[in-house]
Amino acid sequence: MLPILFGMPEGPEIRRAADRIERAVRGEVADQVTFAFPHLQPFEARLRGRVVEAVETRGKAILVRFEGDLSVYAHSQLYGRWYVVRRGKFPQTNRSLRFAIHNQEKSALLYSASEIDVLTPAEVERHPFLSKLGPDVLSSGLDASALYARLSDPRFARRALHALLLDQAFVAGLGNYLRSEVLFDAGLHPSVRLGELSDDDLRMLARSILRVTRQAYRTGGVTNSASRVKALKAQGLRRAEYRHHVFTRGGRPCWSCGEAILRQVLGGRKIFHCPECQPLVR
Ligand SMILES: [Zn+2]
Repeated sequence: MLPILFGMPEGPEIRRAADRIERAVRGEVADQVTFAFPHLQPFEARLRGRVVEAVETRGKAILVRFEGDLSVYAHSQLYGRWYVVRRGKFPQTNRSLRFAIHNQEKSALLYSASEIDVLTPAEVERHPFLSKLGPDVLSSGLDASALYARLSDPRFARRALHALLLDQAFVAGLGNYLRSEVLFDAGLHPSVRLGELSDDDLRMLARSILRVTRQAYRTGGVTNSASRVKALKAQGLRRAEYRHHVFTRGGRPCWSCGEAILRQVLGGRKIFHCPECQPLVR
């Protein structure tokens, strides 16, 4: 059995994992809750018998909200693995189980995660990681005009786009593949500073951030356009080949213009762009 969340997930992957967990536990009484960490075990009795009300995402963290006032915060980092199974059907794994919710039919299991906590609403508000996060790209409350207003804020003006888009304090949920794909969608060079963009560019970038991230959520990580994906599949290409516009496509021809995609390392992470479709000077 494969875990439903592994590797270095970005917002769309986290939200899809949270959807799976939510389908298994939301609205159901958690008749058993277990923690591996001794300091959290006193909460087992307090959470037992409560209904799980929601499974929320905040950037790359998951919050399981229980009836009453407590939420379980879990940040999977690089190693955490979530599984949803029929109750008691534990997966074959050498990993250690850190947190489990069991109801009559299902179990949601988190293995190997390094950061787990139980928080009251006030503790969620002042949590050292959560309180620094910008608005979540996948939250239904964030629209293009709110994001445009944030992009226009002078405090971000000196930041280069490649750095800004990975900064979870700017917006939460973007990661490395989305950074490259959003900038291609907007036709913007990774090294341009936010303050150098025109008003139209800012509006376009706001729309691209939302469009590409929401598409990745719907498609399970495919950011290339639907019509191109269809055509490339018909030619027999594999998912890894048709999945993206530019990400991991260094040296290959741009699907739009045929120019070779450039690979760089910026901020310690790989980034890809098309020199023709995303020129530095326009
Ligand atoms: Zn191109």
